[in-house]
Amino acid sequence: MTTWKFKNCPRCTGDMFIERDVDGLIERCLLCGYSRDISKPKNIVSTASGTKR
Ligand SMILES: [Zn+2]
Repeated sequence: MTTWKFKNCPRCTGDMFIERDVDGLIERCLLCGYSRDISKPKNIVSTASGTKR
């Protein structure tokens, strides 16, 4: 199964897809070939601590 992220490329705003690698998950752009590792999330949003908006 392929997960698509349309117009999400930071370089060319092209369509990206999620690729499963041995290291984890890689986000790859179909148009320019840009790829980045997304298997290690840097921004973990905690919603369980009771912070509400
Ligand atoms: Zn691109």
